[in-house]
Amino acid sequence: MYTGLTQGAIASILTEGSEEQKQTYATQMISGKWTGTMNLTEAHCGTDLGLIRTKAEPIPGGYAITGQKIFISAGEHDMAENIIHLVLAKTPGAPDSSKGISLFIVPKYLVNEDGTLGERNGVSCGSIEEKMGIHGNATCVMNYDGATGYMVGEENKGLRAMFIMMNAARLGVGLQGLAQGEIAYQNAVIYAGDRRQGRALTGAQDPEEKADTLFVHPDVRRMLMDGKAFTESMRSLVLWGALQVDLADKAESEEERQIADDLVSLLTPVIKGYGTYMGYQIATESQQVYGGHGYITEWGMEQFVRDARIAMIYEGTNGIQAMDLVGRKLGQNGGRAVQALFKVVADEIAEAKDHEKLSGFAAALEKANGELQKATMWFMQHGMANPNNAGAGAYHYMHIMGIVSLGLMWLRMSKAAQAALDAGTDNPKYYEAKLVTAQYFAERFLPDAGSLRRKIEGGSESIMALDPEMFAVA
Ligand SMILES: Cc1cc2nc3c(=O)[nH]c(=O)nc-3n(C[C@H](O)[C@H](O)[C@H](O)COP(=O)(O)OP(=O)(O)OC[C@H]3O[C@@H](n4cnc5c(N)ncnc54)[C@H](O)[C@@H]3O)c2cc1C
Repeated sequence: MYTGLTQGAIASILTEGSEEQKQTYATQMISGKWTGTMNLTEAHCGTDLGLIRTKAEPIPGGYAITGQKIFISAGEHDMAENIIHLVLAKTPGAPDSSKGISLFIVPKYLVNEDGTLGERNGVSCGSIEEKMGIHGNATCVMNYDGATGYMVGEENKGLRAMFIMMNAARLGVGLQGLAQGEIAYQNAVIYAGDRRQGRALTGAQDPEEKADTLFVHPDVRRMLMDGKAFTESMRSLVLWGALQVDLADKAESEEERQIADDLVSLLTPVIKGYGTYMGYQIATESQQVYGGHGYITEWGMEQFVRDARIAMIYEGTNGIQAMDLVGRKLGQNGGRAVQALFKVVADEIAEAKDHEKLSGFAAALEKANGELQKATMWFMQHGMANPNNAGAGAYHYMHIMGIVSLGLMWLRMSKAAQAALDAGTDNPKYYEAKLVTAQYFAERFLPDAGSLRRKIEGGSESIMALDPEMFAVA
């Protein structure tokens, strides 16, 4: 997290900062000498940043920043010579909403003109939060007492600048979700091979032992196959997403750059929201493989579950990712991004449809993609008329898009695996396992798209009907 936040801060400074800011701060952060943080949250506001109270008063050469930020990851430590805080604050007379927020660089140590470190700035760590997991990271209350800050980009356009950091960080958090699921899964695989309990339903597999390994039990395999099916395709999706990030910047034609940019923008909330949701599910399922030992600290599995939990909350909760997807990304530019995704999926299906060994998976993915299209249409017809319909279904929609995106990855992996097997390979088991795992994904993940679509079509009536006081009545 220390380096991850630094990368996001670098991206903001390189995109929105002045030449001087890039030279003074970004170069030292890129070299790894200094680290960075993002300071949005205050005690009374996290999601609704229009409410922030931190003030930025103009002073000669910059601004005096005053206020308190909470939950600041990597806010204070002595692993780097300097910490560059990127802080959201309001200038005098700024609009009292998210349109009145500006972004500031606030270094822990002021930097002299020759680049050496000067005086300690007026920013300090008030306390370190006690929390459920990620104990390797210091989550700090940060006090700004007239600290010297320098505006990044334009006044009142701070959220736009911060979103550069947040988009990078959201993709990073999606990767965290995958990583937490993956390490828990890898441990569960080892445990399932070592632990012996009971006999296979079809008769003893290891008669010379008193019991068979956990691997013989279909229900244990269900959990392990979930882990395998998710982690292998999510890994592909984040790599494919990273490729789109590069293509958005470096592809030859304007059209290719735009398609890649649209896909990244559309899939960022999905990679974050669905990736961390599933990462957490896989961490708990892998913990379950350990039985009671999964609950005991010594085995390490409970730590993965605790650590995985935060990824669904920070960088915008998963509910907010869903709203970003449905409320902003779907309708942008007349739905251009979602149409681009539909086309990528449809093209991939069309290529595989007539292939003897791939047609079954292609048909299952086509069905799930059809559910995604129907849910999209439903929002167009019912979301505008009643925005609560969009809010009530957004989370499920994000999950359908996650399922279809992973399905796309499984189709691409299946094609590659089949091609390798057809061409002859010295590692056939590896490729055969890909095809079997794709089949499992088609049987156990893709059908969920249909039930999620039906939930969306239930609308918001029952969700919104009860008065708040009725929630407390048994
Ligand atoms: C360990 C940790 C590290 C963190 N690191 C940082 C950091 O480095 N920098 C930083 O600035 N912040 C950081 N945060 C803060 C984090 O990003 C916020 O906690 C998070 O965005 C949610 O804000 P909140 O806690 O104020 O919840 P609230 O905004 O009060 O939300 C409460 C609930 O209501 C929902 N909700 C709120 N508004 C809406 C809406 N409009 N539509 C639908 N649902 C809504 C939310 O999804 C949530 O479920 C960190 C938090 C933690 C716990």
